[in-house]
Amino acid sequence: MEADGTLALISDEVHHVYSRPRISEHITARASVDSISYRPQDFYHNYAVNPILGAAVVEVYPQSKTLKLEDKQILYYRKLLLATGASPAKPPIPGLTYQGSTISPSFRHAFELEQKLAGIRQAVVIGGGFIGSKLPKHLSKVGVQVTLN
Ligand SMILES: Cc1cc2nc3c(=O)[nH]c(=O)nc-3n(C[C@H](O)[C@H](O)[C@H](O)COP(=O)(O)OP(=O)(O)OC[C@H]3O[C@@H](n4cnc5c(N)ncnc54)[C@H](O)[C@@H]3O)c2cc1C
Repeated sequence: MEADGTLALISDEVHHVYSRPRISEHITARASVDSISYRPQDFYHNYAVNPILGAAVVEVYPQSKTLKLEDKQILYYRKLLLATGASPAKPPIPGLTYQGSTISPSFRHAFELEQKLAGIRQAVVIGGGFIGSKLPKHLSKVGVQVTLN
C-alpha cells in the first residue's frame, strides 16, 4: 500500500532517538549523542517523517484537533499518539531535595551530571538495580569514589 499523508514527531528533547541505557557511558567517555543513537541521522527523512525536536507540547485541544507548542505555535493533527514516557520520582527521603542530588533519565541530565562532577571526589548512588550498578563503574573512571547504597 502506498503511504500518504504526513507524519510529525514532536519531542522536547533536541536529539534523535538514542539509547537511554547507554547515557551513563557519556559521563566518562564524553561520547557525542550520535554514538548512542538508535537510528542514522537521515532516518526520519527516509521515512518522510518531520521531526520537531526541542519543542514541548504544552496543551492539547481534542475538540479542534490541535495542540500548542511551548513557543505558542499551534499544530493541527488528524491522529495523535501520546508516547510521553515517564518521569522518575525521587523517593521521599528527607534531604533528597538537596541540590547535590540528581536523577539522570535523559542525555541532557547525564550531560549536566558530567558538568557537576568537576571537583567531585565522592558520590553515593542510591538504588542498586541495573542502572545504579552500572554507574559506579563509569564514575570511578573519572576518579570519583562511589558508595553504592
Ligand atoms: C538511564 C536509563 C536506563 C535504562 N535502561 C534500560 C534498559 O537497559 N532496558 C530497558 O528495557 N529499559 C531501560 N530503560 C527504560 C527505557 O529507556 C524506557 O522504558 C523507554 O525509553 C520508554 O520509552 P517511551 O518511548 O515510552 O518513553 P521515552 O523514551 O521516555 O520517550 C518519551 C519522550 O517524550 C518526551 N516528552 C515527554 N513529554 C513531552 C511533551 N509534553 N512535549 C514533547 N515531548 C515530550 C520525552 O522528553 C521523551 O523524549 C532505561 C531508562 C533510563 C532512564
